[in-house]
Amino acid sequence: MRTSLTNSINDYIICSECQSEFDSGMTDSGSIQEYTKLDVGFTDIGVQVWCRRCEKNVCHIDFEDNDLEADFRCIIASSSSNS
Ligand SMILES: [Zn+2]
Repeated sequence: MRTSLTNSINDYIICSECQSEFDSGMTDSGSIQEYTKLDVGFTDIGVQVWCRRCEKNVCHIDFEDNDLEADFRCIIASSSSNS
């Protein structure tokens, strides 16, 4: 079941420079997720995705002064069973 608390990503945001390097086989990383180093955080206008490897903006979403809803809860898997 997909809710706001499960991984609902349809399209990943990826640094294009890291993607090019990864695609050209310059790295021995197993996946682009392991290779790229993305920081995600709030800014004065919205949310920015920043590539730490390339020190470049990947994506900056402008909320245009809208107060958007966000869910910061997380689901923690239970290690105990009810048997
Ligand atoms: Zn990058």
